[in-house]
Amino acid sequence: MTLAPNQTTGLVCAHHHLYSALARGMPAPPATPTNFIEILELVWWRLDMALDEHTIEWSAKLGALEALERGCTGIIDHHESPNAIDGSLSIIADACAEVGVRVNCAYGITDRHGPDGAAAGLAENERFLADGGRGMVGLHAAFTCSDDTIAAAAELAANHGVGVHVHVAEGPTDTWQQLQGQTTDDWWLIHGVHLPDDHGLSGTIVHNPRSNMNNAVGYARPNRFSASNPIALGTDGIGADMLDEFRVAYVRAREHEVTTSPDQVWDWLEAGRSLMPEVADDVVTWNYQDMDPWRLAFSPGISPTKIDIDGDTVFEAGTTTKVDADEIRAKATEAAQQLFTKLETMP
Ligand SMILES: [Zn+2]
Repeated sequence: MTLAPNQTTGLVCAHHHLYSALARGMPAPPATPTNFIEILELVWWRLDMALDEHTIEWSAKLGALEALERGCTGIIDHHESPNAIDGSLSIIADACAEVGVRVNCAYGITDRHGPDGAAAGLAENERFLADGGRGMVGLHAAFTCSDDTIAAAAELAANHGVGVHVHVAEGPTDTWQQLQGQTTDDWWLIHGVHLPDDHGLSGTIVHNPRSNMNNAVGYARPNRFSASNPIALGTDGIGADMLDEFRVAYVRAREHEVTTSPDQVWDWLEAGRSLMPEVADDVVTWNYQDMDPWRLAFSPGISPTKIDIDGDTVFEAGTTTKVDADEIRAKATEAAQQLFTKLETMP
């Protein structure tokens, strides 16, 4: 396909949490988190406990809509909802299909809720993949999983010919050594901030610069992995504006190493397409004359004017064509209120 200078193929968010789309405006946590683990315990592990099928559906629709509006046509999602596990991946896949965005789903298995919780997470990945769903097997992170759970996830993924999508060494207490000997090239390793250079893990390392800064976990220095692992770019749930994430990744990389070029960082953005090569069939037309990384690194505020996904126009003249964006926003606001009420009454 020949693209004009103001066009790109579809952008991919290589690590998203669509379930966090309703979190903005949520009630303050019971105490102010002072480190990475407390951020998980006081914010995200309370939010995921409060999710039900209704809030999963509307957060996915809102997240998919916001991705599309920023030219992101492919989402690699990592989901957790301990009190609504069964069927959750299909809810997310259906929501994205309705909006018209491609999605790869995974349920983050964890032993945080005992062996039954881990088994239910494993079963949801298995159900979704066996039904023909597009996905990977999800693991929350090695530090919340037993060795048996990690081995079971690796085996299920291998049986379905897919990789494992797992958080790795995000914070200093997020151990990764249990993954040694399990990983293969199709694994999707998220963050890697505290991985040593010679970690020996196989798979794509997904860098999430804004999230890492927000959680004060340090800089992943992704360039140090460039000889051993492909590097892709994700948002870790803070929207799916991949041009914006590219600019953040670029300026963060420059702060660390001033010789980093926009082309290097653009390569990270493009690497997400390895898992979703069909975004090459998507055409995003932008309100900017020249979609060249050296210009884009210094040009905020660029927006799509038209998006074709697999030949189907899903966005034109500033709005979506398949769904009513205003209606999704209104229903998502209502669902968010229900979620917030639930959070307020949680212990
Ligand atoms: Zn994440």
